[in-house]
Amino acid sequence: MYKATVRDREISGKTALVRVDFNVPLKNGEIGDDTRIRASVPTIEYLIGKGCKVILCAHLGRPKGKVAPEFSLRPCAVRLAEVLKKDVGFVGDCIGDEVGAAVAKMQAGDVVLLENTRFYAEEESKDEASIVEFGGKLAAPADFFVNDAFGACHRNHGSTYGVTKHLSPCVAGFLVELETDQLTQILQAPQEGFVVVLGGAKVEDKIGVIKSLLPKCETMLVGGAMSWAFFKAKGMEVGLSLCEPESVAAAKDIYATMGGDLKKLKLPTDVYMKNVAGDHQIKHAAADAIEPGWDALDIGDETRKAYAEVVLKAANVFWNGPMGKYEDKPFNEGTLAVAKAMGDCPGFNVVGGGDSVAAVTQMGVADTIDHISTGGGASLEFLEDGKLPAIEALDDK
Ligand code: ADP
Ligand code: MG
Repeated sequence: MYKATVRDREISGKTALVRVDFNVPLKNGEIGDDTRIRASVPTIEYLIGKGCKVILCAHLGRPKGKVAPEFSLRPCAVRLAEVLKKDVGFVGDCIGDEVGAAVAKMQAGDVVLLENTRFYAEEESKDEASIVEFGGKLAAPADFFVNDAFGACHRNHGSTYGVTKHLSPCVAGFLVELETDQLTQILQAPQEGFVVVLGGAKVEDKIGVIKSLLPKCETMLVGGAMSWAFFKAKGMEVGLSLCEPESVAAAKDIYATMGGDLKKLKLPTDVYMKNVAGDHQIKHAAADAIEPGWDALDIGDETRKAYAEVVLKAANVFWNGPMGKYEDKPFNEGTLAVAKAMGDCPGFNVVGGGDSVAAVTQMGVADTIDHISTGGGASLEFLEDGKLPAIEALDDK
């Protein structure tokens, strides 16, 4: 990568502030999927090996600037200790005297995790000065900064950006390096054989990546509720299917601005829909035969087969967003068909996005994917122009 990493600077024996992405799914204090915690281990072990004192900071959920025990990072410290097979201290605050006292007791190679940075409103403030000031408080006990929180790099927050104004060096960790390198490979893929698969619910969240990748790819396969926004933009009936006005507006914008590239954008030709206004019967229908009162919840067999064929032949594939309401069987079948094709595709393939990653994991094909991004929004934003604000704030190589 073009930014300095932990390997590029002399950091032995120093105190590191490491921004990690521990934004894991939590239910009643139990961690669901710990992929993000495991992904932070190479950097943490490297720093331990260099005799650093390792102070970790992160956010969890959306506590909106207030202390909220259900968003405590404590369970992540426990899980990290299990994964590292080493004690991990936990500090019940992320700034101030409690942190200072805990760090003063640290020895070389010790690891502590600080409490959720989002317990302070300044972390996510819109005001640059306040972000930088908060960053100063986070930076106070450390000598240098490591950003390894790829999933948080699309936001200039106190812990991803503010801190960089106070510490030197500011370097990337191995996860940020890996994610950047893999996604750059997708971004630079030759047009021939480059397939993008986009699903999920909201076109407006993905409009940036659609506009950026449509000219670069050979084919863009659209599935999920996103498709209905394109249908509606074309004046087709979508019944009671999930289709927000913002998504329709975004789809219209794409139709109005993407010119000749629009021929690469493929929409489902058939669907599975449910009679939600009536007896909840499920039936197969052509895309132009969605009826009022019915909810289209998955792509149909013909679309599954066509999409799988395109994916199988691809040289490079990027996939974000499920093809249907995969949480509700049998509407997981369309997503499963694409997931299987990704698994069988000999080309280079990358999956990004919280729900898409959950889908490939649930379906047991995660091992066959070349790279599974830990960043949802971050991976999409990266693919817009190969940059993310918090990565830009790090030192050049
Ligand atoms: P990701 O997290 O992978 O970026 P999104 O968050 O954009 O994906 O979208 C995932 C959500 O979209 C899931 O909750 C899924 O159930 C929903 N979804 C996809 N297709 C449909 C559909 N046809 N009807 C209703 N919900 C859908
Ligand atoms: Mg999601």
